[in-house]
Amino acid sequence: MAEHKPQPKLVFADDDGNIYDHPELEMLVRRGDRLEPPRPDEIIPLPPESELFLLPGRDALGFDPESGEIERLEDRAVAAFVCPGHTLSATAAYAANPGAPVLPLFAYGAVGFSGDRFVVAAARVDEDRRQVFTGISKDRIVKGARALRTKYPKNHLIEHLCGCALTSCCPAARNLALGRFEAPLPTSRACNARCVGCLSLQDPSSGFPSTQSRIAFRPTAQEIVEVMAEHGRREPRPVFSFGQGCEGEPLTEIRVIAEAVARFRKNGGRGTVNINTNASLPDAVEAFAAAGGTSIRASLSSADAALYEAYYRPQGYSFADVGRSLARARASGLFISLNFLFFPGVSDTEAELAALTDLITEHRVDFVQLRNLNLDPELYLAVAKKSGALANPARHASMGLKNFRKRLRKACPWLRFGYFNPVVEAPPASA
Ligand code: SF4
Repeated sequence: MAEHKPQPKLVFADDDGNIYDHPELEMLVRRGDRLEPPRPDEIIPLPPESELFLLPGRDALGFDPESGEIERLEDRAVAAFVCPGHTLSATAAYAANPGAPVLPLFAYGAVGFSGDRFVVAAARVDEDRRQVFTGISKDRIVKGARALRTKYPKNHLIEHLCGCALTSCCPAARNLALGRFEAPLPTSRACNARCVGCLSLQDPSSGFPSTQSRIAFRPTAQEIVEVMAEHGRREPRPVFSFGQGCEGEPLTEIRVIAEAVARFRKNGGRGTVNINTNASLPDAVEAFAAAGGTSIRASLSSADAALYEAYYRPQGYSFADVGRSLARARASGLFISLNFLFFPGVSDTEAELAALTDLITEHRVDFVQLRNLNLDPELYLAVAKKSGALANPARHASMGLKNFRKRLRKACPWLRFGYFNPVVEAPPASA
C-alpha cells in the first residue's frame, strides 16, 4: 500500500468562534459534491487580506489517516474567502445540518493548517495590485473623497462613489478617491437577468441579502465625463469600467454611456474604456464600440447554454445573444474578456473545457478572468443539477484549476489569463 503523505491539518472553530488546527485530522476539500484530499500542487499559504469564515449549522469534515475514515466535528466548519487576484481550486469540506441557513454571497474556500500557517486550495492568477490596500492609510482615502466632493459638489455620481469608498469600503471607489488604477462608472438601475447570486439585488425569498445596494439614479453623461476626465488626469494608464457590483446591466443604459464615452474621446480622453456586462444586447455592444469603447468583459458562469441560463435566468434574451454580442464585439475591434465565474468540480470538467474552448475560439476571445463564483456551494450545485448539466458524464470528474487552465491555453494559445480588467490602450491587432 502506498505510503500515506501527511496533508495539512483540518481547521475548525470552537463555540466562541476561535479557530484551531486539529492535532490528528487532516484537511479535506470539495469539488462539486466530491470530497477528496487536496492535490499537492494546489496548496498555497493563505494570502494576506483574505478572511476566515465560520459556517453556521455546518459540521467540519476531516480525514483520519489512522482509520482511513472521514470524521465529522459538529458545528465547527470554517472556510476561507481569498483576497482578489486568487482563484479557488476547491471549496470547503463540510456537512450542512438540517435547517442550516443559506450562506451569504461569498466564495467558500477549503482551508487547512500546515507548519505554522493557514493554507488554502487556490492559485494566484493575477499579480496586479489594484485591490491591495495594505499600507494605505484611511486618511488618504478620506482626503481623496473629500477633495472630489469639494471639486464636484453637484456631481451625483461622485457623491455616490465617495459614499461607497467611505462606507462600504468598495475597492473600486477607493481607487477613484486615491486616483489610481480602475475607476468605477455605475449607471444602471435595471437588469435583464435575474442571477441567482446577484450582488446588488436579491429577492427576500432567496434567504440571503445582496452584498451591495443597487444605484438608485442614472448619472448624466456630463457627470460620467467629469469622473473620467478627473481620473484620467491622475492615473497615467487609466481603466474606466461601466458595470459595477452596485448596479444592474449597463447595456440597458447604452444611450447615456455612448454619449459620455463619445464626449470623453472628443475631448482627447485617453485610456481603457471597459464595460462589464452580461453581453445580452448585441446592438448596444456595437454602439459602445462606435462611441470609443476599448474593451468588453462578458460575465459567464458556464459556456453551456442550459447551465448558463439556469444561473443567469435571462429576461428577454438567451445564451445565443451572448454569442451574438461577442461576434459584434469582435467585428467592432473590442478587446474581449470573459469574466468566468469558476466553481470547482463543475467548471474544471471535460464538458466545460470543450464548451468554453469552442466559444473562445469562435470569437477569438483575448482574455479570461478566472473569478470565484460567490454563492452557497450547495445552492449552486442544486441550480446545476436542475439545469441537467450535471447528468453529463463529462462533468463527473474534475481536472483541477491548474490543469483546466493549462489545457485551455493549449487549445487557445493566444489566450491570456488574469483576474482584473487589463489595460488595453488601443484595439487589439487581431481585430
Ligand atoms: S447581470 Fe449583474 S446586475 Fe444583472 S442580475 Fe446578474 S449579477 Fe445582477
